[in-house]
This record gives sequence, structure tokens and C-alpha cells, in this order.
Amino acid sequence: MILFKEINALRGFLQDKKQNHGLKIGFVPTMGALHEGHLSLIKESKKHNDITVCSVFVNPTQFNNDEDLAKYPRPIEKDLKLLTEEGCDVLFYPEVKEMYFDNETRDPIDYGNITEGFEGEFRPGHFDGVVMIVKKLFAIVNPDNTYLGQKDFQQCLVIEKLISKNNLGINLVICSTIREKDGLAMSSRNTRMNKEERQAAIVIPQTLFNIKEHLHEFSVEQLLIEARQKIISASSLLKIEYLEIVDSKTLKPILRFNKSDKAIAIIAVWCGNVRLIDNIILTE
Ligand code: AMP
Repeated sequence: MILFKEINALRGFLQDKKQNHGLKIGFVPTMGALHEGHLSLIKESKKHNDITVCSVFVNPTQFNNDEDLAKYPRPIEKDLKLLTEEGCDVLFYPEVKEMYFDNETRDPIDYGNITEGFEGEFRPGHFDGVVMIVKKLFAIVNPDNTYLGQKDFQQCLVIEKLISKNNLGINLVICSTIREKDGLAMSSRNTRMNKEERQAAIVIPQTLFNIKEHLHEFSVEQLLIEARQKIISASSLLKIEYLEIVDSKTLKPILRFNKSDKAIAIIAVWCGNVRLIDNIILTE
């Protein structure tokens, strides 16, 4: 694996591979602290591209909580090992000053419903920061395909919009959520939970699976009341920020299921001091 820390060197390398050798480039943007979820994206990219580029960059502009940014895990040696073992071709690992000018400010992003609610509401400015960095990364890597995880479903919609709005011509592939054996969605933040919190967190995926299992037995309202109750009563460590059933294209609430609905249940929960998100596609 070749490691790049500088934009120009990476750009030059990839331009040559694309223009002079006609190679196809797959790109997996990450914030590091890699786990099987990230590695599944690398695997998918390797299947369909000649060169797989992974970026590891803890992007300060997408954090709206200083403690979360400070405590974000950064085990770069382990990441290097995992990426090498996985056969990733290129790692882009820039410093903050390589990606941002001094005092660079975020452009507010407004993609309507897609950026307004849920993560947009509870993490103000989060998507402004995500779009800011992903736009820069796309401009540097210029990939044919990019691979994102369904776990960050709203983020996938935002990046889809970024690509289509700017005619970037990048194919976005959304990959399934990889889970721990007990169902908890893998996340770099999982390591920050203590034993008790980790145990309590299991009810999050269980609740989502339960909604899907009983989808056609109850009304949407009843399903949500039951689901919220299940979480609240499971542990005092859990605090729900949102748990909703929405249209998976528009993120507008679904009040009653129709056959044609493409529905998804999305959730954000504080487990102690760690914020976890997850979702499950209910109807495709
Ligand atoms: P992050 O490092 O958390 O910014 O995530 C980088 C990419 O990995 C994003 O596209 C995430 O959606 C994806 N990802 C994170 N966790 C998982 C998971 N458990 N399964 C699949 N993809 C994931």
C-alpha cells in the first residue's frame, strides 16, 4: 500500500493511473479507527476497481461537540495494518492543515428535507462539514466509484445529492451495515462504551429488527410507541434522540404503510456519553 500525506502527490499519482493507464479508481472515505464495516467497503471497492483509495481523516468541521472530536479514536498503526492486510492500494492520510486553510469557514448546505431533520437537527452544521470535506476529497481523488455504509444512511443521501447537484459523475455504492454478533452496528465509537453501556446498546438493533418483524401487524404509530418504550425501559443509560419511520428517499415521515412505500426506520440514541446511530430498511 502506498501512503500519501500530500494532496499534490496523490493527485499526480492517480491522474497518471487514470489518464495514462485507463485504470478505474474506487474510493472509501473514512475517519479511521477501522473495523469490519470499513473493511467491507474496501473489499467491495477492490472487486470493481483497479485501484482502491482509502482516506483516513478525522474531519474537525463535521463535529459539533468538542469532546467527541477530542475523544475520537486514532489508532493509525492498527489502521495501516488492517488496510495493508485487506490489500488496499492507496491510503490518503493528510493533516488538518493540508485539507483546510486557516479560518476556512463552512458553507451552509441546504438539501431541504435531506439535511434538515435527524442528524441535521441534532448535530447542527454536521452535514456542512461532511459536504465540505467530501467535496475536497472527491476533487483530489476523482474516483469512478465511491463506497459508503448504509449505517450512515442520511449521509449517503447527502452525498448522493452532492454528486448529482454538481454533476460529479461518481457512482455511489451503498454497502450493507456490518454488525457485531449480538446485532450492534459496528462503529468506531463502540470502543468508547464501558461494559454496562455496551450491554445496554444491544437493545438498539433488537428494537429495529422487532419493528421489521412486526411491520404489517401494527400501525406505524403503534410500532413506534412500542419501540420507544422498549428502549426507555431497557436501561436508564439509554436516551433516545430520535426513532422514526420515514421514506428512504425523502426522509419524510410515513404515517401509514402503502405497498409502494420505501420505508426505513432510523434511530439515534445516547448510550451513556456515546451517541449511536442505526437504521433498518423496512420495505425496498
Ligand atoms: P466513518 O469512519 O465512521 O466516517 O465511516 C466511514 C465509512 O464507513 C462511512 O461510509 C460509514 O457509513 C461506513 N461504515 C461505518 N460503520 C459501518 C458499518 N458498521 N458497516 C458498514 N459500513 C460502515
